Amino acid sequence: MSRFLNERMSRMIPYVSGEQPQDKKYIKLNTNESPYPPSPAVFEAVSTAEISDLKLYPDIQARKLRTAIAELYGVETENVLVGSGSDEVLMFAFMAFFDKKRQAVFPDITYSFYDVWAKLFDVPYEVKPVNDDFTINAADYLNCGKNVILANPNAPTAIAMSVERIEKIVAANPDNVVIIDEAYVDFGGESCVPLTKRYDNILVVQTFSKSRSMAGGRLGFAIGNKELIADLDRVRNSTNPYNIDRLIMAAGTAAIESNDYYMENCKKIIETRKYAAKRLWKMGFEMTESSTNFLFVKSDKIGGLELYGELKKRGILVRNFQKPRIADYNRITIGTFEETKIMLDTIEEILSE
Ligand SMILES: *Cc1c(COP(=O)(O)O)cnc(C)c1O
Repeated sequence: MSRFLNERMSRMIPYVSGEQPQDKKYIKLNTNESPYPPSPAVFEAVSTAEISDLKLYPDIQARKLRTAIAELYGVETENVLVGSGSDEVLMFAFMAFFDKKRQAVFPDITYSFYDVWAKLFDVPYEVKPVNDDFTINAADYLNCGKNVILANPNAPTAIAMSVERIEKIVAANPDNVVIIDEAYVDFGGESCVPLTKRYDNILVVQTFSKSRSMAGGRLGFAIGNKELIADLDRVRNSTNPYNIDRLIMAAGTAAIESNDYYMENCKKIIETRKYAAKRLWKMGFEMTESSTNFLFVKSDKIGGLELYGELKKRGILVRNFQKPRIADYNRITIGTFEETKIMLDTIEEILSE
C-alpha cells in the first residue's frame, strides 16, 4: 500500500479468485471454466477484418450482440444489457440500485464477490445462514425490505432453487430489486428470465464464462424490465461506455448464434458430472445435489485442505474455501471425461495411501 491510497480502498478486502499457477501444467478443476473450446463460428467471427477494425471504437450500444441475446431468450433488445463479464454487470447493479436506503441481503454461503461490492459501495448488508444441508430458505427473503441477491444455482454449494420459490421472493418484495445470478443455469437449473416479463423488480444476470467457453473473453449480460436495464445503462455510460471490445462483441454474437453447440457441451458435462458423483459416492464422499458444472464434496476420510493439497501435488487443482461451515469441502469443476477420470483415479489413490 502506498501512502496515497484513499481511505475507502485501504479498508477494502478485495475478492480472491481461484489460483492460476504458471509453474507447470495442471488439470484445472478449480475455477469452473468449460473444458471445451469456443464453437467453430467463434473462431471464424474473430477475423482479420475484425482485427483491422480495432482502430475504430466498438458499437457503443452493442446492438448486434444484445439483439442476438434477446432473440435467444425471447425478449426485446431493450431488455438486455451487456458487460465485461457478469462481474461488471453485477457491479453496475450495485451502483444503480443499492444504497443505505436499499440495503442488501444474501446467503452466508454464496459467491464471495457480493460482500466485496457491498463494502466497496458502502451498502449495509445482511447475510442469512443457509440451512444445514446448504439449501436456501426462501422464507428468509420474503418481505425483507432489502434488495435480494441470489446465485441460482448457488455457488459453491451447487444447489438450485425452483423458479416457483424465486417468484414468491420477487412478489413479496415489490419495492426492492431481486437479482438472480444465473452463472450456472445451463447445467441443470431453471432460468428466471420468464419472470422478467411479469415483474419489474427482477434482474437476471448470466455469463459467457462457464457454459459458453469464454471466461477469457469477459462477457456477461443482464435481462430485465426496460427501465431496470436503462438504469444499468446509465451506470455503464457513466463509468465505461465502450465496455465490450470489437473482438469479444463478434465472438459473443457468434457464440449466441451457435447456441446448440454449447448446449451439447452442457449435456456432456452433466453426464460426466453424474459419473463423477457416482464414483465419489462409492468412495464415501458426501455431496450436495449439483445443478452446476461442479461438485461440492467432503469426506470423513480426509480433510478438505488436505485433499486439495494432495491433489495439487499430483497436478490437479480444485478449490477449497477456508471459510466457516465449508472448510472441509472441495469444489471440483467437471472437466472433460478424461480429466474427470484422472481426478477420480487420483483421489482413489490418495485415499488408499
Ligand atoms: C463465475 C461467476 C460469476 C462471474 O462470472 P464472469 O462473467 O466471469 O465475471 C458471477 N457469479 C457467479 C455465481 C459465478 O460463479
